[in-house]
Amino acid sequence: MDEGGRFRPPEREEQERWMERALGTAKEALENGEVPVGCLMVYHNEILGLGRNEVNETKNATRHAEMVAIDQVLEWCRQKDKDREEVFEHTVLYVTVEPCIMCAAALRLLNIPLVVYGCQNERFGGCGSVLNIPADDLKHSGAPFQSIGGYRAEEAVELLKTFYKAENPNAPKSKVRKKQ
Ligand SMILES: [Zn+2]
Repeated sequence: MDEGGRFRPPEREEQERWMERALGTAKEALENGEVPVGCLMVYHNEILGLGRNEVNETKNATRHAEMVAIDQVLEWCRQKDKDREEVFEHTVLYVTVEPCIMCAAALRLLNIPLVVYGCQNERFGGCGSVLNIPADDLKHSGAPFQSIGGYRAEEAVELLKTFYKAENPNAPKSKVRKKQ
């Protein structure tokens, strides 16, 4: 394993294996009354960050799955005394839904080389749907990254549909959200 060497993208089967895991995390989000998005950050075959949406629980609109996972990677770097720049430059993000504009910008600033995602995010997508943050010519905002969509997209969409169906009934949203 050549840590510090050039980033080498994982094989397709490996990518599918990680996406399976990300989908499992998205299901957990659904069970907890959150928008079902799950993700993981993999560095040299090791999961350093495993995040799911936590916006409702934390009442913090920025706690998207990617942000949760990024914080875990930073914590891992602190504990292991690793160079975070080197780590992020060799980390792949697997996420069930196309990262939004905010998250795509954060990933760019961290110089992540590759994002593998499931379905598109038509309302907020930052990897092509609304804006194309990974490919934009933004000189002072990190590095462009590669993004590949379409992995297990149908399942990712199904989870979102289930969530929005359950959240929509007659009561106002704030009352439907969990209150335990
Ligand atoms: Zn986001």
